[in-house]
Amino acid sequence: MTFEDLGLRPEVLQALNDLGFEKPTPIQKEAIPELLSSQRDLVGLAQTGTGKTAAFGLPIVELTDFTKKHVQALIVAPTRELGMQIASDMKTFTKHVKGAKIATIYGGASIDTQAREIRGGAQIVVATPGRLIDMMKRNIIKLAEVQVVVLDEADEMLNMGFKEDIDSILEQTPEQRNVWLFSATMPKEVAKIAKNYMDNPFEITVGTKNTTAANLKHVYYTIKERDRYPALKRILDLHPNIYGVIFCRTKRATQEVADKLMQDGYSAEPLHGDLSQGQRDAVMAKFRKKAIQMLVATDVAARGIDVNDITHVVNYNLPEEVENYTHRSGRTARAGKHGISVALVSPREIGKIKSIERIIGKEFEKGEIPSGDEVSKAQLFHLIETVKTTEVKEELGKYLPTILEQFEDLEKEDIIKLFVSSEFNPMLEYYQKSYDLNASVSSRDRERGDRDAGRERGRNRGRNDENKQRFHVNQGEEGGLNKGAVLRLVCQHSDISSGEVGRIDLFREFSFFEVDKKFADQVLQGMRNAEFNGEGLKVEFAGDKKGGNRSRNGSRGSNNNGSRGGGGYKGNGGGSRSGGGSSHRKGNSGGVGGGGDRSRRRRRG
Ligand code: AMP
Repeated sequence: MTFEDLGLRPEVLQALNDLGFEKPTPIQKEAIPELLSSQRDLVGLAQTGTGKTAAFGLPIVELTDFTKKHVQALIVAPTRELGMQIASDMKTFTKHVKGAKIATIYGGASIDTQAREIRGGAQIVVATPGRLIDMMKRNIIKLAEVQVVVLDEADEMLNMGFKEDIDSILEQTPEQRNVWLFSATMPKEVAKIAKNYMDNPFEITVGTKNTTAANLKHVYYTIKERDRYPALKRILDLHPNIYGVIFCRTKRATQEVADKLMQDGYSAEPLHGDLSQGQRDAVMAKFRKKAIQMLVATDVAARGIDVNDITHVVNYNLPEEVENYTHRSGRTARAGKHGISVALVSPREIGKIKSIERIIGKEFEKGEIPSGDEVSKAQLFHLIETVKTTEVKEELGKYLPTILEQFEDLEKEDIIKLFVSSEFNPMLEYYQKSYDLNASVSSRDRERGDRDAGRERGRNRGRNDENKQRFHVNQGEEGGLNKGAVLRLVCQHSDISSGEVGRIDLFREFSFFEVDKKFADQVLQGMRNAEFNGEGLKVEFAGDKKGGNRSRNGSRGSNNNGSRGGGGYKGNGGGSRSGGGSSHRKGNSGGVGGGGDRSRRRRRG
């Protein structure tokens, strides 16, 4: 089946052609004909990376009358990043369609600019729930003529506490509008939305719940705690063409690992919430352009990263919440591509691997950290491929006689040795001193692992505990809250012991905690006067705000600061070929990414 067969308008076919989309993905094949031929609601169980944006976006473009100047389609997404990505896709699909206007509205940016986009006659609006509600309240946006509402990543929106906002949005759109809901999982709360607002929806499932893509391989390496960073470097060195995201648990660790990598000459930059939005946008832009090869990110900041071609996700540490592993690994193996998710674990953490295997429904492979010799060979091979595919500029011709004269007395083999050594000595020197980084796992570690995995299962079972009351707090990580602070505040103000406080989920702008129901009123009363960092906290029963049973970090972050790619084997005497920091891919010299990236040179040590 081709896009022509789907009956899309020629301007859209042209745009798809420009994009290089040759044929529809499975979800597009199923959804597009149905959405175009019948005015139906839809529930799509699908993750990002399946092509779902076009699956709902293309029918929207077909169904919209671009001669009119009012909002006809509304796409609601959990985060600013995802919203911007969807809007960018919609703009691309409509770039040849006359009169098409797409507005993007999200928090944290000027409402006036966004209001102008709406007043300018946008027919399609992509929005995050909070800002949309705000603009609805101020009468900036009217939804009376909306024909389609798309809820993208619905489970994520509910986890982030947007249930009430979604209800109000759906209630303020005309009754005859269609709702197209997409979700990676189908917890009860999402099913409830489908039940309340949809009529006999068409259902599509792409991939099964919680399983990760078949083209995604999971590999773990056991290392001693103190070898975490050298092990990371070895893995990166084994894959000179890597284009990846390295996850750390905290903002501080993220910055530290990124700093070390940058100092060691790797093309890496950090992405975390301590950076300003502008910095995060800048680093993301560089990463998208492949001007940097690696992002070192926190879970929160990396939510919503929607970049194709990521070859590796590296779990520098496993996530605190094992469920977050799926979100991390889902950054790679997108759009049918292959990807590898790598985890560095200490022998004590083996149990977590088992818990994750249960969640992803797939086994990890056990990897061996390569020896210095293997890494050196991989790097040498890469260097040779790079040299062989290097373009020889015409201007070199005028210097050639002088160059040849300089090498007159040397044999070909000597010349090769000298050139390779001039590039490769630092690498050889670094790996000369290398030792085996693989840690053995003792039977005690394994037993502990089994116990930990058992406890984790118990903890997961407890999550839907009917005996617990969940509370919503109007501050989150951005305001400096952490789990310890939440625990302290709850205990201090409500006079209960820390053992009575259950699960705590922190998000960027808000958080949740749970206590046994018998303390619910006591906590609600007690927290009335709670303050954090000099600001009064608003603590309410989460009730309808309840965030599902998985913990996901909702965010819009991504961030940065200034290094440039490139590096350069410092100390190699001669001029480096390093191309000023941009790592354009070309050629094909091994590595999952398949692009020969020449500009990354490293200084070892
Ligand atoms: P999505 O699930 O919408 O995030 O899509 C994942 C990626 O797949 C997007 O970056 C699209 O550019 C790409 N994509 C979507 N549909 C197609 C298609 N039919 N052919 C090739 N690439 C596609």
